Amino acid sequence: MKISVLYLGRLECRKYHLIECDDHKELIKSPIMSILIEHPILGNILYDTGNSPYYSTEYPASTLETYPVAEFISIEDALKEKGLTPADIDMIILSHLHFDHAGGLRYFTGTKAMKNVVVSEAELKNAFCQVMTGKPGAYVKGLFDLEEIRFKTIDKDTELAGGGIRLFIQNSHTPGVTGMILETKSMGNVIVTSDTIYTCDSYQKELPPGGPINKTKKEFYDNLNRIKAMEKEYSAKLLFGHDYEQVLKWKEKGVII
Ligand SMILES: [Zn+2]
Repeated sequence: MKISVLYLGRLECRKYHLIECDDHKELIKSPIMSILIEHPILGNILYDTGNSPYYSTEYPASTLETYPVAEFISIEDALKEKGLTPADIDMIILSHLHFDHAGGLRYFTGTKAMKNVVVSEAELKNAFCQVMTGKPGAYVKGLFDLEEIRFKTIDKDTELAGGGIRLFIQNSHTPGVTGMILETKSMGNVIVTSDTIYTCDSYQKELPPGGPINKTKKEFYDNLNRIKAMEKEYSAKLLFGHDYEQVLKWKEKGVII
């Protein structure tokens, strides 16, 4: 199994939205990331798809104001750098359906991946409930309510056939963020948290996001404690949801075997 971190540009938002802090003016670079997994049995798997190319017209003004897109790299271009096209992807796993993770789905129109989109049931229900009741938050209906899409839902922690990839469902940030434990030869186990923990700093200093994204801080801390236990159990390295320095460093590693 080979994994590659794909850098898909960045948002530039107030730091306190990612990590609680007193200064509500300070800005932070929030990278957009996807992970390509080349699996010997399951084929090419993509974890998250980045922003929509039409973000400037598709995202609500309030979203663009809070989370301005400072740099956009399409998932299509990032795959091209790896010698792949959307048609080469066999499966898409979405950590959750927020705009910066589900926005690139439409590049997969007409491909086999579009019929094989894995997401947690809790997340899918939450996303549709939010958009259909007019409380969309960071969900944009048009990004994932696509005619030909077929979701495959998981409702518990799941090891994918063929081994090497274990999905786990977290109840923080949204009710069903799917994280991953990846087995690599060169780096050992890697835990991908997605947005339940945005940055290394947030994890090490145990600081939750300061914005309105978590309903309660308890969710953040319960999940943080679970990740800490998993880090020990699997002797794992951690890859966080939106840590700019970390994403660039992991992208530089190239293909991780
Ligand atoms: Zn995100």
